[in-house]
Amino acid sequence: MTRLAALGERLESPLLVTNLTNVFYLCGFDSSNAALLVRPGGETTLYTDFRYAEAAQAVSGVTVEMTKRALTIDVGEKLKGTVQFEADVLPYLEWERLSAGKAKLVPTRGIVDGVRAIKDDEEVATLRKAARIADRGLEALTAETWVGRSELELAWRLHELLHAHGAQELSFPSIVASGQNGALPHAHPTDAIVEKGTLVTVDWGVRVDGYCSDCTRTFSTGGLLPDELRRAYDVCLDAQQKAVAGIKAGLTGVDADAIARDPITAAGFGGNFGHGLGHGVGLAVHEAPRLSTESTDTLEAGHCVTIEPGIYLPGVGGVRIEDMAIVRDDGVDVLTSFRKDLIEVR
Ligand code: ZN
Ligand code: ZN
Repeated sequence: MTRLAALGERLESPLLVTNLTNVFYLCGFDSSNAALLVRPGGETTLYTDFRYAEAAQAVSGVTVEMTKRALTIDVGEKLKGTVQFEADVLPYLEWERLSAGKAKLVPTRGIVDGVRAIKDDEEVATLRKAARIADRGLEALTAETWVGRSELELAWRLHELLHAHGAQELSFPSIVASGQNGALPHAHPTDAIVEKGTLVTVDWGVRVDGYCSDCTRTFSTGGLLPDELRRAYDVCLDAQQKAVAGIKAGLTGVDADAIARDPITAAGFGGNFGHGLGHGVGLAVHEAPRLSTESTDTLEAGHCVTIEPGIYLPGVGGVRIEDMAIVRDDGVDVLTSFRKDLIEVR
């Protein structure tokens, strides 16, 4: 059954899909200006503008209707009856334009995202390939000298190596955070020179056939590592391994998060792990489900999630260790193959 047909079976009234990643997921149409109207049963209209006319004709299982560049003005005039829309992504201005028409608009969220979160075998194979390419690219960088080069230089070199190993693009700009910068979970690489005797966190990912990888490793630069950082690494690794061993389908996102959070808190670093344990990965680098203290999700077989505890010590440095894994009924299938013991780079 096609993805559009499967979605159509779940609908009681038509759904206007405006999330472009969801449009791509449902029918393979890659565009910066498009919407799908999926009706109960799966009959679907694809709206897009002149620039994508030829590509739209190649999409199977949909009726194509061309619109002006201001797509929602035209679509608003065509819609009738009750129409659900993706309230979490539709800008207010677009909602106003759609509302100017005759349809009764009903806000929904997560309908397509919930289906998209569960990966089929082909998607898992692509995610595994993306993770493998990312691993080989970073492994090649660990064979080079890090100390004395800037974070930006290392990030650019990693970019080159990832492409050399088969990446089509990066799934997000790589993070290379050394020394004190490692205490910032989403640090941008700076011109700071990597020094001996500290940790360097690298968070990187590649995209293959639309699918993202997302992984983090933290390295030692040799010499005398402050005791606090060494201990943070050991605690973080232990928590990460406990989560890998304990996560399986049926757990809530809150329970999964707690598997790693509890040992970190017990070691006295509870206040230094300020983000959730993980998130879904797929066509988007951050998608459903969430693994965190605030999550409302329950893990299902086929979810692809990250498992990424971190410990951030302001003014000192930080550690994060992140794997990508497929949730199964009896555990997880880890897609990341990069070593997790503390590797010393030169
Ligand atoms: Zn990451
Ligand atoms: Zn992540």
